[in-house]
Amino acid sequence: MKSESEIVDAIKGDEFAFFYQSKVSLVTGRIVGAEALIRWIRPDGSIVMPDDFIPAAERSSLIKDVTLHMLPKLMKDMLIMMDVEPLVVSFNTSAQDFEDDTFARTLLKMVETFRLAPNAIQVEITESVALGAGEAIRRNIRPLSQAGIGLAMDDFATGYSSLDTLSKWPFTTIKLDQGIVGRMMASQRNATIVNSSIRMAHELGVEVIAEGVEAREQHQYLMESGCNHIQGFWISRALPLDQFITFVEQDNRWSGLPVGLIHMAVIDHVQWRKQLASSLLRAVSFPKNSLQRANMNLPAMECHECRLGRWYYGEGNMFHGRAIFQSLQKPHADVHDTGLRLTQLVIDGASLKDITPILRVFAEQSMIVLGLLQNLEDEALENLHHSTSDENYHLSNYLQL
Ligand code: C2E
Ligand code: CA
Ligand code: CA
Repeated sequence: MKSESEIVDAIKGDEFAFFYQSKVSLVTGRIVGAEALIRWIRPDGSIVMPDDFIPAAERSSLIKDVTLHMLPKLMKDMLIMMDVEPLVVSFNTSAQDFEDDTFARTLLKMVETFRLAPNAIQVEITESVALGAGEAIRRNIRPLSQAGIGLAMDDFATGYSSLDTLSKWPFTTIKLDQGIVGRMMASQRNATIVNSSIRMAHELGVEVIAEGVEAREQHQYLMESGCNHIQGFWISRALPLDQFITFVEQDNRWSGLPVGLIHMAVIDHVQWRKQLASSLLRAVSFPKNSLQRANMNLPAMECHECRLGRWYYGEGNMFHGRAIFQSLQKPHADVHDTGLRLTQLVIDGASLKDITPILRVFAEQSMIVLGLLQNLEDEALENLHHSTSDENYHLSNYLQL
């Protein structure tokens, strides 16, 4: 472990640099970002890893100097990267960085000076910091989110009240801890934590990145679970800037068939249907012209706006070459039309008896949507396993790209 005076000397001697570890999208299979990881490069060329000096710096307020010292380096590195590819770059912060507003102010000023897009930058905060954070820390983080800078909860699933913290903070991303990712293939319990974390993040509109992915099976499992991004030695270690850029320029493709997102769409639709049906059934029990009928708690009624619709007309469109995907459009629009019709009838004073036959049609149309989604998921799963067991077969054949 290094001493504080050695760290002070290293700042003066400009011995710190960032290495970059790639993040890959499980939708496109391409590198979409990186995490900046600090390295201490000694004059003799040897490298000191962060675990040997960050804890010492964190025990004093020295960590704040390290962070501020690294910011302009990060900005300069990002300008070089952006010439090659628009990437989202995250970097690590410590609780002390948010004790006062110096760090947040400096970061915002630099983003402006360097003319970087705020949403190309992401600040990582560990779950334990977020859990223990007082109001001051929250107050100093807020301006960053307001400016559009991403906020990632690091080491997610290692703390205790993740759900509670997640709902209180403006997180845009959660990073599944590498310990949990490492154990998920061997432990059903860990697999369940991974799956339910992903599902919850999906409902909150937060992205998920899995850290510490070291093997093909983990990559595949995360694709099937609906995870958005992966990071780990399976893709690459953290590399010095020049090597990282060469790596990005190679334009490697990893398999990126988001089967898990089809599964999310299945659950999304079930939840949509349930919310609508229960709102309607509750409302018909109230008298005609009552306020409760006019103010039903409705899900998104437009077919582009429900979660399934947003997926279908957005990311899901990568399946447009598949006949099953095409055939989903009409039944999905139909079920929304029927939902709207039912809603109007209830507002106009219809009784349970009046709407029962139409509710039945609604349920049938919804079953068609679910059946098609299920077929699409099965077909994609088959192709995913086919493509990863046969090196010559490519997912692009399946997607007809
Ligand atoms: P972290 O933020 O959880 O970063 C992930 C660590 O896991 C990195 O170690 C990374 O190299 C390593 N890693 C990535 N993929 C794999 C994998 O597939 N398998 C395994 N076994 N490990 C993997 P690194 O670079 O040694 O960083 C260690 C910790 O030091 C970081 O953990 C972070 O908490 C801290 N750190 C790194 N850079 C900074 C920085 O600039 N500022 C602050 N405050 N902390 C930093
Ligand atoms: Ca991190
Ligand atoms: Ca981490």
